[in-house]
Amino acid sequence: MKPLPKFKYHAPSTVEEALYLLATLDEAEPVAGGTDLVPLMRDAACSPSNLVDLNNVAELNYVREDSGYICIGATATHAQVASSPIAAKAPALVDAVSGIGSPQVRNRATIAGNLCNASPAADSAPPLLVHEAEVAIRSLKGTRIIPLEELFAGPKLNTLEPDELVTEVRLPAPPEGAGSSFKRIGRRKAFTLSVVSAAAYVELSGGEITEARLAFGSVAETPIRTRAVEELLRGKALTGGLLDKAAESVKAEVSPITDVRGTAEYRRDMCGVLLRRALAEAAERAR
Ligand SMILES: Cc1cc2nc3c(=O)[nH]c(=O)nc-3n(C[C@H](O)[C@H](O)[C@H](O)COP(=O)(O)OP(=O)(O)OC[C@H]3O[C@@H](n4cnc5c(N)ncnc54)[C@H](O)[C@@H]3O)c2cc1C
Repeated sequence: MKPLPKFKYHAPSTVEEALYLLATLDEAEPVAGGTDLVPLMRDAACSPSNLVDLNNVAELNYVREDSGYICIGATATHAQVASSPIAAKAPALVDAVSGIGSPQVRNRATIAGNLCNASPAADSAPPLLVHEAEVAIRSLKGTRIIPLEELFAGPKLNTLEPDELVTEVRLPAPPEGAGSSFKRIGRRKAFTLSVVSAAAYVELSGGEITEARLAFGSVAETPIRTRAVEELLRGKALTGGLLDKAAESVKAEVSPITDVRGTAEYRRDMCGVLLRRALAEAAERAR
């Protein structure tokens, strides 16, 4: 195994202390599960001089409901979220985090780390986008809350300043009559990154789609919502004909590339396939 470059390790026990370290140390990076950061360090793709480990900050470890929001603290792991009865109200998110990596990865890695790493293939991103998640970001200067979409700047690029920490990801608790689902295609069934992923969220009333949201991973520079197709679905009954139209239209809204995991053509086609599967399951759950 390749050795890690040298760095200083810091283990703050409060958010304030972590923020102070990030603001005052040179080339400091927060680390949560380390499942993205440590392999990058081993490959010399990044070499922070200081690592600020968040795992001793007890106030960041929770999944709770507060004022109508499902709130996920920065060190909550995928396994914690997968088994949380509160997170179960957002089934697309539970679908996604239950399939990330392996049990070892899910016990170590966090949702906040998955999002901050800003991979177009981050599996927690599409479900959180369709559930209209927000991200709470803190620094010594204060707190700002942004829509999740605004965290992503490009492949592996986020919009955080070096002294900022994501402290919470939160999503509105869905109303009655809502359902969501996440589907993905990988090169094998488990322990692999998504070649394409899709999440759907619907609210139904008397058989009509009153709200529809769709998001995809691995088909653009960042995880994306496909708002034109969402508009096509709103106010209609979910018939086979509408599904056909949506599955075809979505191909014009994505811009996949060809890489080692799949071709652009395959990814574009699979967007239609996954849209059908995710939308059908979301509607079933909404009923
Ligand atoms: C074997 C293996 C399998 C994997 N399978 C999958 C998969 O199926 N699907 C998938 O999406 N991913 C997968 N991954 C990638 C990885 O596990 C996830 O992205 C994971 O959620 C990252 O979380 P982490 O806590 O380990 O992040 P870390 O590695 O600790 O951090 C990642 C980045 O985010 C920053 N960061 C972390 N927390 C914060 C914070 N609170 N505020 C600001 N910045 C922060 C770090 O500085 C770093 O730049 C896999 C990784 C491995 C090694």
